Amino acid sequence: MTLLEWHDKFPDDEACRQYLFDQRWPNGFVCPKCQGTKYWTVQRSGRTAPVYECAACGHQASVTAGTIFHRTKVALRVWFMAIFLIAVDKGGKSAFALSRELGLPYVTAWLLHHKIQQAMTERNSRYQLGGLLELDDAYFGGISHGPGKRGRGTDQDPVMVGVSLTEKGHPQYAFLEAVPDLQDETVKAVLERRVEDQGVWRTDGAPVYASAAQEHKAEPKVTLSTDPQAAEVFHWINTVISNAKAFIDGTYHGRGRARRQLYLEEFTYRFNRWHMGTRIAERLVLACLTSKPHPYAT
Ligand SMILES: [Zn+2]
Repeated sequence: MTLLEWHDKFPDDEACRQYLFDQRWPNGFVCPKCQGTKYWTVQRSGRTAPVYECAACGHQASVTAGTIFHRTKVALRVWFMAIFLIAVDKGGKSAFALSRELGLPYVTAWLLHHKIQQAMTERNSRYQLGGLLELDDAYFGGISHGPGKRGRGTDQDPVMVGVSLTEKGHPQYAFLEAVPDLQDETVKAVLERRVEDQGVWRTDGAPVYASAAQEHKAEPKVTLSTDPQAAEVFHWINTVISNAKAFIDGTYHGRGRARRQLYLEEFTYRFNRWHMGTRIAERLVLACLTSKPHPYAT
């Protein structure tokens, strides 16, 4: 879908609201309290979206309540446009670029971007990698270009990275997680959340992966980084790491692991869905619709 087609599909707030309504209630309105199906539409002053009042019990439901659009003052059409721009741009869209392209105050653009990243994060957390995996860690940081980029610097955080491969050796899905350290329990906690049991794990032989593989009943395959085949074996994970670094360097210049993690999740969200083409934009609308409201971020 092109930007023009997206605009034609969602020309105004009403079209966006109707789309959210159809996604939330594909078989028509159902009252979340009493399951009643008759309702009145009530437009409240000062709110972007109307509410639907259940004819049976009087409960007021809205398509945006309990989602990332909760109590938003920003027009849904603007949200949808921001979602499209962030979803389809391979290199991501900074809050600054969004603000310029949508004519929004920077703080508004920043908030939309931040909330959309949180929806991506929530969606990413529902999946685990399985099958044939490459697992590694790398240092990302303020100065991640130049020599010594794999070494520890003063403001660099280690990032754990996993990539799953198809039988033909093509990359499928990835996860990237910034961690405070690479202690055994830190690494294992991440693998517990991000990786399924069993499968085959390609690693460079760090002992923690061997012991975690045993706990996950996975088959470890070690290729030392000094091995002449290492570049070939770890081709995809190295590619993901360098692309993620380029993305972080290009769009995010701040410090702080939590903020950086949001950018890693944004990168991951797009990476894992690149095969969808521009259908990714509608998926991201759904991710926003099913993501819980996030209070104003720190
Ligand atoms: Zn009801």
